[in-house]
Amino acid sequence: MAKEKIILTGDRPTGRLHIGHYVGSLRRRVELQNSGLYSKTFVFIADAQALTDNMDNPEKVRQNVIEVALDYLAAGLDPTKSTIFIQSQIPELCELSFYYMDLVTVSRLQRNPTVKTEIQMRNFEASIPVGFFTYPISQAADITAFKATTVPVGEDQEPMIEQAREIVRRFNYIYGETLVEPEILLPDNSACLRLPGTDGKAKMSKSLGNCIYLSDSADEVAKKIRSMYTDPDHLRVQDPGKLEGNTVFTYLDAFCRPEHFGRYLPEYPDLNELKAHYQRGGLGDVKVKKFLTAIMEEELSPIRNRRKEFEKDIPAIYDMLKKGCEAARETAAATLDEVRKAMKINYFDDAELIAEQAKRFKGEE
Ligand code: ATP
Ligand code: MG
Repeated sequence: MAKEKIILTGDRPTGRLHIGHYVGSLRRRVELQNSGLYSKTFVFIADAQALTDNMDNPEKVRQNVIEVALDYLAAGLDPTKSTIFIQSQIPELCELSFYYMDLVTVSRLQRNPTVKTEIQMRNFEASIPVGFFTYPISQAADITAFKATTVPVGEDQEPMIEQAREIVRRFNYIYGETLVEPEILLPDNSACLRLPGTDGKAKMSKSLGNCIYLSDSADEVAKKIRSMYTDPDHLRVQDPGKLEGNTVFTYLDAFCRPEHFGRYLPEYPDLNELKAHYQRGGLGDVKVKKFLTAIMEEELSPIRNRRKEFEKDIPAIYDMLKKGCEAARETAAATLDEVRKAMKINYFDDAELIAEQAKRFKGEE
């Protein structure tokens, strides 16, 4: 029998979702959800993970759970096709993490480049919370609990998926074939692997405050694009401009489609010509930024409008999440049963074990 294909991904409720999430993962999830190629799609709000570096600010996490849920629905995730749930409501995930901790060494965790960068970003060098340090293990639990085969995420998640694969291999080697090894699904477009922030920093990230949010108003988006980082040496229109590290062009790589030229910039046939002109000199930042603003508006306005609709009935969204949690919990519990059985810690379900032990203590007759 061909293996069932199952999708799983999540986001930390540390803020509203931004266009980095959108191009890195969310847009793809919606496509996959609608593709008919996957038997199940699980999408979750990683509140327990968000608490690992926001333990002193639970209110922030609590407030953002609903924001992320609204962004999901606005972007096109459909609860009739995808199971949307909240991580902390699935206690089975904690138990799985606890067992997986035995399969990972401290030095292996210390080598995780994403965690290393995040520790620096948060000034955790001197005192790393254990929960934060071990979150790649808990992520492996999230993925494997649902037997996910496919994890559509941005490039920063590569080390996490690798860690999960190692845990699966080690678990299956020791305890027998039980868990499914997940595969990462990165965006095809290289600009979307790790979308930079509006300040030109390597990654758009809620924690860095350099984001364009899916729910920003048209004015906010336009303002953020106007002050966006370009080429600091491109001072006059006639100066030649650089594309490398030029955020406006990276965003065009991520969002621009051929038909946008006809609609908003008919004097250029395509993005290559626009880039060539910029590099030659004679093309001002303002013009390129206006083009990008029009494209972003086309992409974001339907999302923003759908969000406004969903905002009208917040209790219905909590209800949807609750149902998602119940469904997710059933799946996670079934996997946990298999894990306990494989690890031989299912004492009371195992009549054979009890009989065997009874016999042993009676002595062979
Ligand atoms: P935080 O700063 O709280 O970690 P974040 O902005 O990094 O927040 P996450 O919730 O950690 O967001 O990431 C959720 C998903 O979005 C992951 O799949 C991640 O790879 C993807 N993602 C986040 N930021 C970007 C980005 N700038 N470009 C591409 N993908 C991204
Ligand atoms: Mg992150």
